[in-house]
Amino acid sequence: MEEMPRRIDPTMDRTAAAHLLDCLPDEVGYCPRCQGLTRRYGRHAQVVCPACRAAEAAESSHG
Ligand SMILES: [Zn+2]
Repeated sequence: MEEMPRRIDPTMDRTAAAHLLDCLPDEVGYCPRCQGLTRRYGRHAQVVCPACRAAEAAESSHG
């Protein structure tokens, strides 16, 4: 059973968010969909945050 990633509130400390995202504080930025924090920059950037990606995957699996 996979756990649904949680949106990271933009008020969260950038360093703490980076720790959750397993990236550098410099790589943290805003998700264009929910304005939560995501790994926006860098080599393994994910512009859309994990929570939005998971929601999208869940929706598409419903057909
Ligand atoms: Zn998002």
